[in-house]
Amino acid sequence: MTLDCDILIAGAGPAGCAAAYDLAQAGKQVILLDKRTFPRQKPCACGLTRKTLKALRYSVDPVIERVCHEIVLQPTTEGGDSGAVNSAHSTATHKSANVRVKTRNPICAMAVREVFDSFCLQQTLLAARQGGSIELRKIDRITTLRELPDAIELDVATPRGPETLRASILIGADGSNGQTRRLTHQDNGAPSQDGFALEATVPYASLPSTLPNGASPHDLVFDFAPLPGGYGWLFPKADHINIGVGAFAPSFAAPSSQKRLPSAKDPAQQDIKHVTRALLLNYAQQKLGVTTLPHITGQQLGMGGHAYVPRGRVLLVGDAAGLVDPLTGEGIHSAIVSGQAAAAAILDCDLYNQPDIAAAYARHLSPLLKTLAFSHRAARAFYAHPERGFKAMRTPFMRSLILKTYADGLPHTSLISALAKLTT
Ligand SMILES: Cc1cc2nc3c(=O)[nH]c(=O)nc-3n(C[C@H](O)[C@H](O)[C@H](O)COP(=O)(O)OP(=O)(O)OC[C@H]3O[C@@H](n4cnc5c(N)ncnc54)[C@H](O)[C@@H]3O)c2cc1C
Repeated sequence: MTLDCDILIAGAGPAGCAAAYDLAQAGKQVILLDKRTFPRQKPCACGLTRKTLKALRYSVDPVIERVCHEIVLQPTTEGGDSGAVNSAHSTATHKSANVRVKTRNPICAMAVREVFDSFCLQQTLLAARQGGSIELRKIDRITTLRELPDAIELDVATPRGPETLRASILIGADGSNGQTRRLTHQDNGAPSQDGFALEATVPYASLPSTLPNGASPHDLVFDFAPLPGGYGWLFPKADHINIGVGAFAPSFAAPSSQKRLPSAKDPAQQDIKHVTRALLLNYAQQKLGVTTLPHITGQQLGMGGHAYVPRGRVLLVGDAAGLVDPLTGEGIHSAIVSGQAAAAAILDCDLYNQPDIAAAYARHLSPLLKTLAFSHRAARAFYAHPERGFKAMRTPFMRSLILKTYADGLPHTSLISALAKLTT
């Protein structure tokens, strides 16, 4: 059978680009499919932790708008009544309970996702070495996916008409709403739940001269008060703040069947325990003193992939494999690391010996899945009683350890043994 390339990759986000980059550098022929034309918008606050920057094969300095050395963590209201949006009064009352952490090394770099993704795609398209190649193709959707004994076959609808593409392996990097996971029925052990987040941008120019409670517009804020099972955030960029609310915790996140954006007319918006436009508007008013948010967007975050077992000729990566961290909602790091793991597995194996590739991918992915399994347990414990987590963070040692784990991906064994020492 004639193949169109060695590897087909569906999705040119961080996961697909990370895989394509390593494969093309190693001399493989890659076709990278995306249903959108870049630059394209993607709901994402684009906070890039140190571990994310380290995982990338190239510097993204040209698209970094701000580097944050300080983080403000805002706790839930006392008594654990995390189901209510704080009023200005209660925020002021508990302001002293905020944890403000400064570090010598940057905690998080800020980019705009549309710009970041375009930059990464450009770097990826330049990556080919040793006869490798990457061809970027726009498709409308995958209509059929067939796993043959010795190849993978995709029927795709394209602006040029229907096409059939054949390759040895398909990397499913098409995100939380993608098709590859559904078409290959890789749901056993893979994501059973998604998180959900809404965001908007507020230009500094449209902020009132003084923010409520005297807050600084340039603070990087994680706020655990607005909703259970997640947090509100303020991520400061060059000329605007990215503001959002998201639910991530396994016991709180929406079931994956809820694949729609809650609308302003949705009765669920009355319930502030759900991530709704009303909740975000209320939060923006409370934190930034603005009364309108012109452009609210949102998306599911693929979660639950700590139990993912790769099989066959389709390797799922990033959100498609459910690899967002359920404690923090961070997904770009997992997307890059899993894309690189899929590439490493393919490069380890004879492309025509498919069972080895799935097993090799499982091996390369294992450190990330262990970390996510830890986060899964930690998220359940933390979001059930966030006030206890805040108590622990009052210890400088724990604070710096938790922060280092978020920023650098410190092995969780260090965190567990530190917790054990503290509690004995
Ligand atoms: C509101 C919000 C805020 C977030 N903030 C952060 C943050 O600050 N930091 C962080 O680390 N993570 C954040 N995340 C999570 C992060 O955005 C994702 O985890 C990350 O984008 C996953 O990358 P990916 O490559 O797997 O998928 P994506 O980035 O979703 O890329 C998938 C690509 O596949 C394409 N595609 C989809 N379907 C098809 C198809 N059928 N055929 C071909 N192509 C297709 C899409 O067009 C897209 O280009 C946030 C998420 C949300 C929703």
